[in-house]
Amino acid sequence: MIKFEKLDYPTKGTKIEVKDGKLAIPNDPIIPFIEGDGIGPDIWRAAKMVLDAAVQKAYGGEKHFEWYEIFAGDKGAAKYDGRYMPQDTFDAIEHFIVAIKGPLTTPVGGGFRSLNVTLRQTLDLYACVRPVRYFEGVPSPVKHPEKLNVIIFRENTEDVYAGIEFRQGTEVCEALIKHLNENVMPAVPETANKHIREDSGIGIKPISITASNNIQRKALNWAIAHQLPSVTFMHKGNIMKYTEGAFKDWGYEFVVREFRDYVITEDELWDQAKAEDGVTPIHKEGAFAHLRGGKPAGDPNGRIIVKDRIADSIFQQVLLRPDEYSVIITPNLNGDYISDACAAQVGGLGMAPGANMGDFVGLFEATHGTAPKYTGQDKVNPGSLILSGQMMLEYLGWGEAAALITKGIQETISQKRVTYDLHRQMEGAVKLKCSEYAAAIVENM
Ligand code: NAP
Repeated sequence: MIKFEKLDYPTKGTKIEVKDGKLAIPNDPIIPFIEGDGIGPDIWRAAKMVLDAAVQKAYGGEKHFEWYEIFAGDKGAAKYDGRYMPQDTFDAIEHFIVAIKGPLTTPVGGGFRSLNVTLRQTLDLYACVRPVRYFEGVPSPVKHPEKLNVIIFRENTEDVYAGIEFRQGTEVCEALIKHLNENVMPAVPETANKHIREDSGIGIKPISITASNNIQRKALNWAIAHQLPSVTFMHKGNIMKYTEGAFKDWGYEFVVREFRDYVITEDELWDQAKAEDGVTPIHKEGAFAHLRGGKPAGDPNGRIIVKDRIADSIFQQVLLRPDEYSVIITPNLNGDYISDACAAQVGGLGMAPGANMGDFVGLFEATHGTAPKYTGQDKVNPGSLILSGQMMLEYLGWGEAAALITKGIQETISQKRVTYDLHRQMEGAVKLKCSEYAAAIVENM
């Protein structure tokens, strides 16, 4: 049995296991949780209430969670002599496989890397998965928020987030610039005439075949399991050819190689249509409506359409033609931007769930921060953490409980009983505290 430095091994519940390449889920899984800083305790209490109630209602006592507290952030530092992210926390998540967390403060100032980034990289949680969907009645800045229903698969471990940066003026940075200017760039035709200014800081953007294929595999498996009509590589390959452009090229090669029976590329579809009747898809009725801004009809043979879009254009696309996108696969930085933009379109970060996933480990988390000014006020919207918990239920295969949560949230919003953030944008709404909102969701399940 694993030995922790300061955690006692749980005395109740059963550990989730990986058996024959699949998760084996007991009826009483031990689920580690990190409460989080700032508003974390408020939203965690609310989320726990909703998750426990959904499982109880769906399975009548046959299944239940054994919650197991682990520590990070301020609580981590208090228990582990100033260590915000103790080794016990990494070990417990890896050992118990599925965990959930509230937001963590990133201490400002020298020496600290984001605790979230550290968690993702140390546990190789290479996929940041962010579904974005609309709940009827939530105030939104667009006319048809219901048309957006996407899931974003963001690569989580490399790109400019790899944390390989050199500060301007340091010896190492100056030496690196000199080496690049004098030895590396002149030797490569594309960079032979370029020059890096001596007073620059330098960041490195590594994008590997391994990490690209990992996120692409995860997304394709999801699209197949959920019978989604398309996947889209989002990239800035027209400018960054050997990183983002390569991400897209490797993606096409990979999905055609590993998922041939399930996919057709947009180009293949186009060629096929032209060969069949000389009519390009853009002029064709019916099956190709998705290419013309209609409802995503998918491939006439039911295959997943694989396409790519340049990063800047996709920000327009999700606003102008949201229903043409269902799975977006993207390198790290693009994914950060597009996830928040999409979340805003359906009503903001208070409602946006997320998960960080490896091959099996799933760490489900609120996507917003610690909103420190609301600490301890029982005020904020617990929706993001509740919906992350709902994703967790789906991951465990407890779909009945997950569906109850969707119902509970939808009913509660339809009744205009909401927390302050939605209340200030909705006419005639009743303002509830964080805990009251959770109780209303339970009541409406
Ligand atoms: P933030 O905590 O997300 O809060 C920014 C604003 O978003 C809040 O003032 C509030 O808006 C709104 N908001 C956030 N969560 C909400 C909720 N549950 N319900 C309703 N409204 C909510 O961002 P921040 O102030 O930039 O960051 C604070 C700390 O959180 C930083 O230390 C940062 O590093 C950390 N952080 C952690 C994570 C994470 O753990 N995953 C993510 C992001 C940031 P109004 O003021 O308009 O009411």
